[in-house]
Amino acid sequence: MAASDTLFDVIVVGAGVMGSSTAYHLAKTGNRVLILEQFDFLHHRGSSHGESRTIRATYPEDYYYGLVMESYELWRMAEEEIGYKVYFPTEQLDIGSPDDKSLTAVVDTCRKHSIPHLVLDSGELREKYSGRVEIPADWVGVWSKYGGVIKPTKAVSMYQTLAYKNGAVMKDNAEVVEIKRDESNGRIVVSIANGESFRGKKCVVTVGAWSKKLVKSVGGIELPIRPLEVSVSYWRIKEGFEAEYAIGGGFPTIASYGEPYVYGTPSLEFPGLIKVAIHGGHECNPDKRSWGKGGRLPIAALKEWIDEKFGGRVDSSGPVSTQSCMYSMTPDGDFVIDFLGGEFEKDVVIGGGFSGHGFKMSPTIGRILAELALDGAAEGVELKYFKLARFEENPKGNVKSFADQVKLH
Ligand SMILES: Cc1cc2nc3c(=O)[nH]c(=O)nc-3n(C[C@H](O)[C@H](O)[C@H](O)COP(=O)(O)OP(=O)(O)OC[C@H]3O[C@@H](n4cnc5c(N)ncnc54)[C@H](O)[C@@H]3O)c2cc1C
Repeated sequence: MAASDTLFDVIVVGAGVMGSSTAYHLAKTGNRVLILEQFDFLHHRGSSHGESRTIRATYPEDYYYGLVMESYELWRMAEEEIGYKVYFPTEQLDIGSPDDKSLTAVVDTCRKHSIPHLVLDSGELREKYSGRVEIPADWVGVWSKYGGVIKPTKAVSMYQTLAYKNGAVMKDNAEVVEIKRDESNGRIVVSIANGESFRGKKCVVTVGAWSKKLVKSVGGIELPIRPLEVSVSYWRIKEGFEAEYAIGGGFPTIASYGEPYVYGTPSLEFPGLIKVAIHGGHECNPDKRSWGKGGRLPIAALKEWIDEKFGGRVDSSGPVSTQSCMYSMTPDGDFVIDFLGGEFEKDVVIGGGFSGHGFKMSPTIGRILAELALDGAAEGVELKYFKLARFEENPKGNVKSFADQVKLH
């Protein structure tokens, strides 16, 4: 079948949060944009669906601070444009042993960027949260101002709606099977499984857990991005304590450093339930998922964590609900934001490997991917940590002083 007559400024492949945010930024600045998604829009088979994602500024890697802080502002602006909320504010609490190198690095990041924070011992923490959070006597808690929860499916829908309102052409059930350059005119030709093809001046590839598969087939490049299947679990708050763990009641988003790395969000999406999960999963084929049956969910470790940290106020007998999702892991847990290079030079941009922590920054990442596609450079951001070349220098990627303690992120 011949390529459609329309010449798009940019074709975005993949309509998860990264592709949708990119399409929005491109359309808003007056570009002709096409976004292609292999499944239905807002499907549940990738990484961007569900009911909650944490946003926090406290990273051991200080280079995420700027991306997060710009995103807070861009979330707010997009909410204003659409007229509903996707971000629910609260504070952030990071806990762990004071010897934990990642937690120490979190405190360093707070100091370096003047993030309002407090380092609390177990007694001070118990007092601050009136017994809602308990930590071992030899742990510390790092309270900080910038936490919160984003509603993911609602946020993706928001970006898709805004992209559409700004003129983007949206096409789902359109699996991209080929991206190539038309040597006669230099255009990028993107073909989908039914034989249709589309022409663009530029292309942005944001295909999440399918990054390795697609990039290998179109560019012959082997990306070090592993798809992992992960599970999220919700636990019942005991009767009488529900309000204390709810988002409006001052309960924080939590990251617990150590083995395993556990995270939690205040009760919001399912009243009476709290999300507590482990940052990890098992390798999977994104096209042949086990849907939670492939790896063993370390329930015993979660139960122990819940008993200890919530002082018996949350029922730890078992999760009442679990959901399956995917991470796209790089060896160092840092993103891939770069040009594909080779025959595509700067005309195909890749945004992938968001390693289970990209959602919060998707507004800024969309802005960056759009600028890279249009201008070949992005403003106000240091991209060296996200370049593909880092894996040529060191297959493990970026070197981190706390890396020996970090399994996933
Ligand atoms: C359980 C869980 C908890 C998380 N918690 C947090 C958190 O608290 N905070 C945080 O910041 N982040 C978190 N994340 C990470 C965050 O959700 C991801 O980083 C983000 O959603 C990645 O988005 P994406 O657009 O790259 O991938 P996806 O959402 O997977 O989007 C990629 C899209 O590309 C499409 N696609 C693939 N191949 C093709 C093709 N050939 N043609 C057309 N389309 C194609 C896919 O169908 C998919 O829709 C979490 C992730 C999970 C799974």
